[in-house]
Amino acid sequence: MNHKAGFVNIIGSPNVGKSTLMNALVGEGLSIITPKAQTTRHRILGMVHGEDFQIVFSDTPGMIQAVYPLQKAMMTFVKISLQDADVLLYMTETGQSDPQKDTKFLEKPQKTNIPLIVLINKIDQTTQQALEEAVVHWHDRFPKARILPISALKKLNTELLLEIITKLLPEHPPYYPKDMLTDKPKRFFVNELIREKILLLYEKEIPYSVEVVTEQFKERDDLIHISCLIFVERNSQKGILIGHRGQALKKLGIQSRESLEIFFSKKIFLEFHVKTNKNWRSDSQQLKRLGYIS
Ligand code: GDP
Ligand code: MG
Repeated sequence: MNHKAGFVNIIGSPNVGKSTLMNALVGEGLSIITPKAQTTRHRILGMVHGEDFQIVFSDTPGMIQAVYPLQKAMMTFVKISLQDADVLLYMTETGQSDPQKDTKFLEKPQKTNIPLIVLINKIDQTTQQALEEAVVHWHDRFPKARILPISALKKLNTELLLEIITKLLPEHPPYYPKDMLTDKPKRFFVNELIREKILLLYEKEIPYSVEVVTEQFKERDDLIHISCLIFVERNSQKGILIGHRGQALKKLGIQSRESLEIFFSKKIFLEFHVKTNKNWRSDSQQLKRLGYIS
């Protein structure tokens, strides 16, 4: 039996639904999803296995004009994604304009013949006319690409997408063990789940100024003891994060624990420490330590 395997990279603007799609395909809440832009900071791998195939998806941060060093590091993950793909998925949604600068980066992989699938997402909330216009537009823009309307949220055409991808994969033995779902360690998901809650609970610049580091992850048969350091850029943000009489942090703790218990299917004991870490987003030493640059 010939085995197929390959890397399938999902790229596109923030908020089009890249993380939702990867989670729908992999079937686990691997990548955090919120209505806010720039939720995904790292590149996250998620795997889908079959008896004779293995698809290694990577979810990337949305394409943005990088301003902060953190954002520049995020865009490096995106650039790497363009180069090491066997299949590229470019995700967009109807009504999203296509200033050429956004899709210029796709021209190079098109010349090297990496198969490109343009996914028009969120068809559950669009009109037939807008969808048709989008299909025509993308067909003109990338004549060699396959255009597929989907809904990542409602799982419309997602099975079909898996079939199309599998056909395009090269013959190759599996890259990873067949029971593996992701390349990231458990601590990574703790950080991400808590960051997701912070994105939902706090306003304005707080979510973007926060980083979560899991300092302790002690797993026993019946319980996981987790201790996290949350750091912010300024002392004023520390006050907001903790809230009046610690109420805000308490709420964050309760909601985070609920999510973690679902994710790990175990009881969780969770502790937070909050610290100010001035300008971590602009400090290359810090970004290195946090795994954003190597
Ligand atoms: P990303 O930034 O590209 O990773 O986007 P996310 O996956 O985080 O999704 C951004 C928002 O779009 C979230 O609120 C999702 O629930 C929503 N979304 C994703 N896919 C769909 C879809 O097919 N239909 C609808 N209506 N909403 C979607
Ligand atoms: Mg995302």
